[in-house]
Amino acid sequence: MAKRSKIKTPDWILKGEESPKSKPKGKTFKVRFCPKCNSDKVSVVIGEIGLWECKSCKWKGANPKEQELSEDEFMEYLDKKEEEAK
Ligand SMILES: [Zn+2]
Repeated sequence: MAKRSKIKTPDWILKGEESPKSKPKGKTFKVRFCPKCNSDKVSVVIGEIGLWECKSCKWKGANPKEQELSEDEFMEYLDKKEEEAK
């Protein structure tokens, strides 16, 4: 009698595809923005745990807007930032 596994082989293995879960997802960078004026000049308030402050509009809060950028997008973002600083 042949042994029969109860566990069904997923389709992606049968098809010889890569696991959808283990797809390499390049490096990402988290960038924070002010929710009020959309400036990226937010930084943690020294001495206050979990509190953020916007240098542009003086917004203060615990939850700045976050955006995850790919490496390419992040480089572009840094370039733009440098342009603005000129
Ligand atoms: Zn702001």
